Amino acid sequence: MKASPPSIYNRKPHPSDPEPVFDKSISPLKEKAKALGFAAIGFSRPERPLFFDQFCTWLSQKKYGDMGWLAKNVRLREDSGSLLDGCQTVVSLAYPYAPEKPLTKDGFSVARYTEPKKKDYHGRLRKLGRLLAKEITREHPGCKIRVCVDSAPILERSVACSSGVGFIGKNNMLIVPGHGSYVFLAEILTSALLPENNAKPMADQCGFCTRCLDACPTGALEKPFLVDASQCLSYLTIEHPLGVGKETGRKMGECFLGCDICQEVCPFNQTAGVLTGPELPPTGEILRMGDADFSEQFGKTSFARAGLEKIKSNIRALGSAGRS
Ligand code: SF4
Ligand code: SF4
Repeated sequence: MKASPPSIYNRKPHPSDPEPVFDKSISPLKEKAKALGFAAIGFSRPERPLFFDQFCTWLSQKKYGDMGWLAKNVRLREDSGSLLDGCQTVVSLAYPYAPEKPLTKDGFSVARYTEPKKKDYHGRLRKLGRLLAKEITREHPGCKIRVCVDSAPILERSVACSSGVGFIGKNNMLIVPGHGSYVFLAEILTSALLPENNAKPMADQCGFCTRCLDACPTGALEKPFLVDASQCLSYLTIEHPLGVGKETGRKMGECFLGCDICQEVCPFNQTAGVLTGPELPPTGEILRMGDADFSEQFGKTSFARAGLEKIKSNIRALGSAGRS
């Protein structure tokens, strides 16, 4: 009889396992990061990112859909140190977003990170990053600082992995052990030389698990660690300039903005996933909304970033697939 693969639920600790998110030798900077609500912090040198070659292969295979901006500034992505004069340290940060899924009053959903009741995360994280940066300048007066929240060409998952913040799972997401993958990432570049605390790149802890690959409704996860963005519902329902068709609408389930499936099934997120009460108006009401109403209700949120017309077209795609 064929032996079943070991479950990662009862996986035994391994000597090479990373330290907990916040280790015992907590420095004032780590203390501050924790107090500000970050799930993890790590430090690395601005070196060639660990997965830079894989990124270049992915680009050469044109797996990025219409997101041509990803193929720009490749040299800057190779050398994050060039993003700040005299850069000596990259501080990687993971900040949690709500694990609960936002629902509409008629039972449809959107990706968790859109947090339709909160202000867009970019501004919130930048403020927190600046507060943390003050701690760095207090210890290292006169050092240069740059806080980045999706605002600089950095291979942030690779850098976060190098700094010991987490590992990249087969679903291509950065997973923080003890927390999961429902996190925003940010970086602070600084000319201060901060200790790396013996951080080492975290090996992936997926083991024999293939849940994310098995669950992806479009086959966008072609194989472990390889996502074809042009097939991914997150891309198609947010970034893709054109509307999604009936065929894609069928694969969207109940979710009309983004897709969390490859994270929902991940055992590292298993404590999450509790649905919220309704947070959004019924889809019919969203379809009737004008720009002014939409802007008033959601203009300051990440939910609005895809734009009202894109959201409406996604809802219609569900409808044309017979579910709205
Ligand atoms: S976000 Fe959805 S469509 Fe994209 S890879 Fe994950 S499961 Fe597949
Ligand atoms: S679902 Fe399984 S294989 Fe996929 S990222 Fe999570 S642990 Fe890894």
